[in-house]
Amino acid sequence: MDANSADRMTTVKKRLGEKGFRLTPQRLAIVTALVSSEAHPTADQIYNEIQSEYPTMSLATVYKTLDTLKDLGEVLELQFGAEKARYDGRTPDPHIHLMCRNCGKIQDLIADPVIPEAIAAMKSVGFQMEGYRFDLFGLCGECGHQ
Ligand code: ZN
Ligand code: MN
Repeated sequence: MDANSADRMTTVKKRLGEKGFRLTPQRLAIVTALVSSEAHPTADQIYNEIQSEYPTMSLATVYKTLDTLKDLGEVLELQFGAEKARYDGRTPDPHIHLMCRNCGKIQDLIADPVIPEAIAAMKSVGFQMEGYRFDLFGLCGECGHQ
């Protein structure tokens, strides 16, 4: 587990504890899989990853845990129409995503100048932001060079 995953694990465990959620082994396994993945996994992928270790766990438990974390602001959910939602438990605050239309890979782009300028422009028209979503669509480094 890298430093970011370990930090996120500590934070999420603390938040769940504060809200009175029991830290069951299943819940901890779900959180661990979530904060360890940079791939923006689907709920099914998280379920498949830990299912062999927790054979009695249901997919509904994964969804319930993701919903709880969403309510706590500890996971970012990315919905794509009819496709399955993808989850970022490593960076729960909004950030820019690069979406590959070929392989489905989602990468983070931490680009400081864009968002602050957009927020400044938004304030100048009196808008009060409650969140944002910023996706760039195209081909990733691997798919674009075939
Ligand atoms: Zn790709
Ligand atoms: Mn992300």
